[in-house]
Amino acid sequence: MALDFNFTDEQKMLEDSVYKWAVSWLEPQMEHLYEVDEMPPTLFKELGNLGVNGIVFDEKYGGTALGYIETLLAYETIARVSNALSMTVGASQTLCFDNFRRNASEKQRMYVLPKSCTGEWVGCLGITEPNAGSDAMSMATKAEKKGDKYIINGSKIFITNGPVADFMTFYAKTDPAAGPKGISAFFFEFDKVKGVTREKIKKWGMRTSPTALITFEDVELPAENLIGGLNKGVAVLTSGLCTERITLSGCTLGSQRSCLELSLKYAKERVQFGKPIISYQAIQEKLANMYTGYLASKWMAYSAAAYCDTLENKVGGKGTDLDRMAAAALLFCGEMGTKIGLDAIQVFGGYGYCTEYPVTRHFLDQKLWEIGAGTSEIRRMIIARELMRDDFKSGK
Ligand SMILES: Cc1cc2nc3c(=O)[nH]c(=O)nc-3n(C[C@H](O)[C@H](O)[C@H](O)COP(=O)(O)OP(=O)(O)OC[C@H]3O[C@@H](n4cnc5c(N)ncnc54)[C@H](O)[C@@H]3O)c2cc1C
Repeated sequence: MALDFNFTDEQKMLEDSVYKWAVSWLEPQMEHLYEVDEMPPTLFKELGNLGVNGIVFDEKYGGTALGYIETLLAYETIARVSNALSMTVGASQTLCFDNFRRNASEKQRMYVLPKSCTGEWVGCLGITEPNAGSDAMSMATKAEKKGDKYIINGSKIFITNGPVADFMTFYAKTDPAAGPKGISAFFFEFDKVKGVTREKIKKWGMRTSPTALITFEDVELPAENLIGGLNKGVAVLTSGLCTERITLSGCTLGSQRSCLELSLKYAKERVQFGKPIISYQAIQEKLANMYTGYLASKWMAYSAAAYCDTLENKVGGKGTDLDRMAAAALLFCGEMGTKIGLDAIQVFGGYGYCTEYPVTRHFLDQKLWEIGAGTSEIRRMIIARELMRDDFKSGK
């Protein structure tokens, strides 16, 4: 058992290259982008050049054939500059394309994945609906078979990358009477269909990560755009949840780390009552709590990623240790992220309340991680369900 955080040389190179890019290319644009709530249009092409888009994809698809530790590390590193854009990358590469890779046919993979690796295509995933959030299985979007086509009607809300995506995977009821057993997964290219409208949603946090309400009105999809088999949508959906929760923990980790670093620097520079504020115990206590919280979050997330990388079958799901560990990692990281963000704002005082400070963006973005990818309440339900299993053994 190796219980240290010594990344391999390859992992350090990945972290260094992503961090250098984030600081030199992304950081100078962030204040303006956050103000106007726009994603940099060439973001995914930039990441394609860095080799970040297809970290877990085989080389034959244009990927780098690495693991979920490396994915987590990349997302953490991007989030040191922008939590929101790290989420946008995760939504495209992990939620959409990685789950597509896991469930699509080889022919479909060869057509789609190379475009995701270069950054030519941005992806999005549609599960949530206006009346089906945590209770995703109660979705109302319908896919009716007519000849060799499916006709789609319904809507998906809060879709990350929805306003800009080229490619979408989503779930719809193909047999509404069968409940969860009547759900199927589909994909399409936006420029190949008619009847899809996208409406950008205004948010106070996670700005720069575009979010949409996507509506389907008699959208015709060829039957071959079904993935994972008819009425097998729940298996497709759940196959991506663990890796999603583990890798998206990186978004909050990056912000936690930046909140600590920015607060430490500021507390050394800011002088009040004739002394740097870092000399006051009340400020030291916040910094100590931030450090401890970040370290604990890091252990939770990286140990779940490391465990996941050891598994042949990384799908997780009900009855697996991975399910509980992934839910616990994002639960802890998400709640700790909000606490650390609040402490950072307090260290900055009034300046922490002004939008031009990066610490403010980190704070605003952090709250999402108690809501997105299954809320904290739902994560606790998953963990409790697994603890109640007869064969549960504590210690992992
Ligand atoms: C910025 C952003 C990006 C997102 N990106 C995507 C995306 O790309 N794709 C996508 O499909 N979705 C996305 N989502 C949706 C997100 O996954 C949902 O918001 C989330 O699952 C919660 O659903 P809801 O908002 O409808 O809340 P609800 O399910 O209505 O929950 C409201 C409150 O009730 C609680 N609650 C609900 N049921 C229970 C229960 N049984 N027990 C205890 N408490 C409960 C919840 O925890 C929450 O506190 C995104 C959301 C946001 C805000």
